[in-house]
Amino acid sequence: MMAPGRACAALLAALVMALCAGPGPAHGEDAGTAATPKQTSCQRANFRVVLDVGHTVEVPGAISARGVPEYQFNLQLATDAKAALVAAGFDKTVLLITSKPPPFGLFERALRANAMAADLFIAIHHDSVPDLLLQTWQYDGQDEHYNDSFAGYAIFVSYGNADRAGSLQFGQLLGAALQARGLGYTPHYTFALMAHRRRQLLDPDTGVYRYDQLVVLKETRMPAVLLEAGSIVNRGEELALASPARRALESAAITAAVEDFCAARARRHHERPVKRTSEPRRANGPRTAR
Ligand SMILES: [Zn+2]
Repeated sequence: MMAPGRACAALLAALVMALCAGPGPAHGEDAGTAATPKQTSCQRANFRVVLDVGHTVEVPGAISARGVPEYQFNLQLATDAKAALVAAGFDKTVLLITSKPPPFGLFERALRANAMAADLFIAIHHDSVPDLLLQTWQYDGQDEHYNDSFAGYAIFVSYGNADRAGSLQFGQLLGAALQARGLGYTPHYTFALMAHRRRQLLDPDTGVYRYDQLVVLKETRMPAVLLEAGSIVNRGEELALASPARRALESAAITAAVEDFCAARARRHHERPVKRTSEPRRANGPRTAR
C-alpha cells in the first residue's frame, strides 16, 4: 500500500507523463521535418570541388601591369578559395596543379578531374587584353604593359561540356555571388575590337560568357566554369587583386556559389524520380542572350 503522499506523487508523475505524451505528434513532426532535409540537402563532405590553378610555373599566362605572372595570382586565389571551402565543410576540395604546359597539360587537368569523379570544376584565372590594346609604362625601372580601360571578372562556360545546363547554372550563381559582394563583370568580350576573341554573353545579369573551345571546360564530365577573377593588366585592379581582402571577397563568393549549387543539385537528385513518372515536357535548355 502507498502512503497518501506517495500516491499523490505517483498521480503527479502519471499526469506529467500524460501531458508529455499528449503533444507526441509534435515530436513526431519534428523528427519528420528534421529527417527530410537530410535527404535533400547538400552533403558538403561528399561534394568534391576541383579548383584548377590556371597555367604553370614555366608557362605562367598573362603578365600583370607590374610584371607579376598570372600563375602567381591564380595560385594565391585558388589556395585561399580552397581554405574557405574546407572551412565551410567542403573537405574534399582539391587544388589541381600541373607542370605540364598546354596542350597536353590542359587535357591532363580534365582527365584528372574526371578520374576524381569531381562534382564541380572551377578553373581560376586572371584576365588580360589582346596585345594591341596594351600600352607601355615604366615600373620599377622596367617597361611594362597595361590597359586601364577594362576591369572586372568574367565567367566562361562551354556548350561542349557534358553538363551544359549545370555549368551555366553554376556560372550564374557565381556571377550573382560576386555581384552581391560589390564586384562587376567586364563587358569587353562583347566588343568588336576583340575580333576572334569576341564571346557571346549568355547572361547579361551575371556576366557569363560562352567559350566552347576551352579544353578544360569541354573535356570535363562534370559542370565546369572558368573564372577570370579580374584584370591584372589594369593598374588599379591589379593592386586590388593582389590584396588579401579581394581574395577573401572572391573566395567567399566562390564558397557561397558552391553552397547554392550543391543544394540545388541535392534537390534535383531528390526530385528526379518524382518528375520521371509524370514528365510530359523536358527541361528547357539554358537561356541565351538572344
Ligand atoms: Zn589565364
